[in-house]
Amino acid sequence: MNSASFANSASTFECGGENSKNPWQSWQTWQSTGAMMTQIDEIRQSISLIALAEEAGAEFSDAHRLQSRCPLPRHAGDRSSLAFSIYDHGTKWKCHSACPEDASGGDVIAFYMAWKQVDFKTAIKELSERIGAHSLPLRRTPIPEPVVPAQPALWSERAEEFVSYAEKNLNDEVRAYLIQERGLSEETIRAFRLGYNPTNVYEDPKRWGLEGKKIWLPRGIVIPGFSNEQVRYIKIRRPMQKDVLGKYIGAWTERDGAIDVKFGGPRGGRSVLFRLEFNDHLSVLLLTEGEWDTMLVWEYAADLCDVCTLGGAQSKFDSLDLAFLTSYLAILVVHDDKAGERGRSYISKLHAVSERIVPIEPPAHDLTDFWKSDGDLRRWIARHVHDAMAPALNQKNESTPMHWRKVFSHIQAELDLSKRR
Ligand SMILES: [Zn+2]
Repeated sequence: MNSASFANSASTFECGGENSKNPWQSWQTWQSTGAMMTQIDEIRQSISLIALAEEAGAEFSDAHRLQSRCPLPRHAGDRSSLAFSIYDHGTKWKCHSACPEDASGGDVIAFYMAWKQVDFKTAIKELSERIGAHSLPLRRTPIPEPVVPAQPALWSERAEEFVSYAEKNLNDEVRAYLIQERGLSEETIRAFRLGYNPTNVYEDPKRWGLEGKKIWLPRGIVIPGFSNEQVRYIKIRRPMQKDVLGKYIGAWTERDGAIDVKFGGPRGGRSVLFRLEFNDHLSVLLLTEGEWDTMLVWEYAADLCDVCTLGGAQSKFDSLDLAFLTSYLAILVVHDDKAGERGRSYISKLHAVSERIVPIEPPAHDLTDFWKSDGDLRRWIARHVHDAMAPALNQKNESTPMHWRKVFSHIQAELDLSKRR
């Protein structure tokens, strides 16, 4: 397993800063941490990883194949091979041989930490000084709008038409799958506007405001992701060979094509938080590993916490709405082992935003598996939400929203914790 690149920066957060002793205060100040993200982005954009590696002693003979002997001080043993490489257009590095597992890859900040053997905060401070940016402590600055490339207006329009069409095609077989295999109710299916695309369709890209190849809309269950009530991406869960979904909607055939592609959908989608959008919100946000788990949590615990997942093809961190996240007392992130490198760097970046972000272990492979094995999903959620709320809610604080207090006492009653207090 490759646990290398982000562990280093994440662990410095687990140690906990001074804020971690008082989560309530931390929540109140956390609205300023958007500035931290700006600072991290600024470092990533302004400081060349290649130049930094060369400063550390790396020598790249070929500009197109950035490989060198490892220049890092904690590299144990043999340095004769070209074990160090830079990839992803000069933004990521990796030592393939003898660096410690927690410091053998990552971004420019992780490189600096491994090179200078400093913690994350020191790295940010010193790298910021290199570009003349302001170093910690952070000022209160407005959170910048995330930069998301424009999606053609036509795309959302056509996507809306397709989603409506798929909703109308939702038949009893698909419903049975969603209810029996995914744990969803009719209400949840309707709320998330799930649907079914009964045939493989190849559309003219112009209808989606795009050029090039035809738009592939495969047969399968249609899961739309929305932002500001506009469809921003569409995932289609296709039947696979020997797949339980095939028992409900007909097994995979030659006509379905692309035998090992589990999720299809029109290209040109944007990553957004997959969730139901409301004006009001609860105190805790649960970030799940995917759309199915988000819908399942909504099904069982919509009154305990808010829930979402980072949805879409790229799952780009940029698409996180920081202003939205900062309004929560705590954000519980279900730790996703199978997402590998990408999942780890995602959590590490979330950590960089705030210590209010708490990774939690899933009770099984994922929440849907837990539910299928008769796990008490609601109780598992209630327990985590309780623990996240307790430090702040156990204090007498006039500014705690009344409906948060209500949720908290509901959970205490449900978990039968009142006697312990
Ligand atoms: Zn190394």
